[in-house]
Amino acid sequence: MLTSPGLLTTRHCRSRRIPPLLVRRVPNQSVITNIPRFLCSRSSTAASKENTSLLGHLPTTYMTPVWRFPHRWCLRTLYSTNTSTSSEKNAQPTPITERCTFSFYAFVPLTSERAIELRKYLKLQLKDPLQILGRVYLSEEGINGQVSCPSTQTVQLRELLESIPEFQHITLNEAISHQTSFEKLVVTVRKQLVRDGVSIRDIDIHQQPEYLSPAEWHSELSSLPSNALLIDMRNNYESTIGHFQNAVRPEVTTFSEEIQVMKDLVQGKEEDPIYMYCTGGIRCSKAGAILKSAGFRDVKMLRGGITAYGRFIRKSGLPSLYIGKNFTFDQRLGEAITNDVLGTCYQCGTQSDQYVNCASDQCNTFFIQCTACAIKHHDTCGDQRCIDDVLTHTDPLEITSSPKQPTRWQHTDRKHPHIVRRRISENLERRTKDNPGLATCQIA
Ligand SMILES: [Zn+2]
Ligand SMILES: [Zn+2]
Repeated sequence: MLTSPGLLTTRHCRSRRIPPLLVRRVPNQSVITNIPRFLCSRSSTAASKENTSLLGHLPTTYMTPVWRFPHRWCLRTLYSTNTSTSSEKNAQPTPITERCTFSFYAFVPLTSERAIELRKYLKLQLKDPLQILGRVYLSEEGINGQVSCPSTQTVQLRELLESIPEFQHITLNEAISHQTSFEKLVVTVRKQLVRDGVSIRDIDIHQQPEYLSPAEWHSELSSLPSNALLIDMRNNYESTIGHFQNAVRPEVTTFSEEIQVMKDLVQGKEEDPIYMYCTGGIRCSKAGAILKSAGFRDVKMLRGGITAYGRFIRKSGLPSLYIGKNFTFDQRLGEAITNDVLGTCYQCGTQSDQYVNCASDQCNTFFIQCTACAIKHHDTCGDQRCIDDVLTHTDPLEITSSPKQPTRWQHTDRKHPHIVRRRISENLERRTKDNPGLATCQIA
């Protein structure tokens, strides 16, 4: 059974809570095996570890939390590519034991032909020799990527990017925690690097804000002048679980909304110091250029974003001015800068900063859920349709043959905390009415 390739995609496993195995084959005998559920135990690794005997023929397995369901664990096995000589082909593939997560970006004008050409080149180079996973976006504005790289290949990744003439000054920003962050590689050409509705042609992208190193940022923020404005350039759902003290945190769910709010906030502050930060710096590079192009003089941003600041704090041992988690757009959905837990579970109100997507594919609502609620509501948002969906789809073959259903909610309805919280409490109310025991039900 373990050798049946391509039975399910990872997404199917996650969203349908099927107890299957997943064996995915990719070219050159490179195999990624993910056995999420039937070997899972709920709260400890012990039961699953006993089952490793079932995987006797697999060379390396290790335990990892299922990223969306941190209370569960799965056995994960990674094999590296086995491409060389025929004698080596029979040898056991080398397991990739450690990966590092990096982000990088560069605003460099590219023609659409050059962007397409680079997409092909990077896809080829990143995939096989380097075994990179993650997302890389190219556009007429430049490049933006978040990738997971085998720790033995980080130098080669840097050299590859710097060997492209347009990106020779690109900076790689290393993440703080290196859990599995991506499962596949996607390299695409898109219209904009960051979707803000402002074309790079309408602003002077070279008019960049002043870049402060994490140390400079830390010292300036420690004694901010009273007329200074500190803006969190991220979405509200990101800043909910972590932010710099005293930052203005706009209630927005997209970057184009953020740009609008920023323009309102800075009105009449042309001479005042404006500080801005985001996850890795790319959004501030764009937003800062918009302000500088509009005549604002004193605009400063955090170089490398919160990710770089987190690394600085760890190294320096200074008390962090950022509290909580740094939200990330990969499977980790955040890395802790401090141990403070700032968010609350949308379903029961207890302190939690663990974001999840509803396990029903058609819902995909994005919200904070504590471990107890995840078990209680079957990893869903609590909508009866989602629970039914998750509980009734148990046949893997049925899933693979059924076409993908459209998502029930629009982007804002899925991500806006206000709307999602309201819907979740209505769901709970409705279900409690039908099943009065639900509100007090004990979690096993
Ligand atoms: Zn809860
Ligand atoms: Zn749902």
